[in-house]
Order: sequence, then C-alpha cells, then structure tokens
Amino acid sequence: MMWWVGVVLVGCGVFLCVIAFVFRYIVMVKKRRLYVPSGTVRYTDLHRPAEPLFSRRYLLTGKPDFVVEMDEGVVPVEYKSGWYVTPPENHVLQVAAYCLLVEDVQQVHVPFGWLVYPSGRFRVWFDAALRVRLASVMGEMRMVLQGKRRVVVDHGDVKRCRHCSFRGVCSVRLG
Ligand code: SF4
Repeated sequence: MMWWVGVVLVGCGVFLCVIAFVFRYIVMVKKRRLYVPSGTVRYTDLHRPAEPLFSRRYLLTGKPDFVVEMDEGVVPVEYKSGWYVTPPENHVLQVAAYCLLVEDVQQVHVPFGWLVYPSGRFRVWFDAALRVRLASVMGEMRMVLQGKRRVVVDHGDVKRCRHCSFRGVCSVRLG
C-alpha cells in the first residue's frame, strides 16, 4: 500500500548521496587547482586519504593538506574556503599546530605555514610569539578535555560549532 513511500525515501537517499559525492568531488578538484608552493611534496591528504601525522611528544595529531619541502624549510599548507583580509585566529592556530606537528614528526625546520583561501594566501610565521600562543591554547584545550575547565564561547557561529572537532566534548556547543 505505502510501497511508494519506501521508493521515495530510497530515491531521496540516493539523490543526497549523489549530491554529497558531487560536492566532495568539486571541493577536491578545486583544492587540486589551488596554489601549491614549489618544492618536494612530503605529505598530502588531498589525492588519496593519508594516515594522520601523530606527535607522541605533544599528543597532537592532524592531516595537513600538503607538507612541502622548500628552500626555506618544510612547510604545511592548509586550504580554506571563505574570503579574508586577514586570517581568523583559529585558522592561524590550526596552521601553527601543523607546523609543530611536522617539526616534531619529521624532525625538520618549519619556518612558516601557508593558509590558502580562494581570495589569496597568507604566510603564517611559526615564530616564538605564535609558539607561545599555541602552547597556551593547547594547554586550555587539554583542561577542557580533562573536564577541568568549561569552554568559553566567544562567537555565535553555529556552523563553526557543527564542524568543530571538540563538539563531542563541548558542553556549550551551538546548534
Ligand atoms: S563546539 Fe564548543 S569548542 Fe567547538 S567551536 Fe563550538 S563552542 Fe567552541
């Protein structure tokens, strides 16, 4: 009697899968066409899924889009969507975390990382000031994970919370 409901649901499911696949493919193609610094690619997660880098020393893990060996040193490259005049702090800290990760895992000199947007790219110097900021944020995150501190939300961005890797442990997530 209601067989058509099942057919419609299956149809919707297939349609959503196709949309998701097409969207993922477009993002992948766009990323491949974006800027990659000239040098030797030491790691990439773009063309096929790669194992995450893991630092035992810092208990840090992540998958930069690229790690490229250039004349200046080894640099992580991260692609982001959006248009920015200056990159937001959370993007800068993500690249800083990749710099630390690559430095420790590959035992190389990492002078900076690249943040690449459709609107342009930014060089993020991995200097002493950024190292201190990163260490402070990582310390706070560990306290949140251990339940010793509550998250203080300094934004009203539901989308950001939806994509946040701390969503599972964050008691104040939005959306
Ligand atoms: S889920 Fe929590 S930690 Fe993540 S962005 Fe939202 S408020 Fe911040």
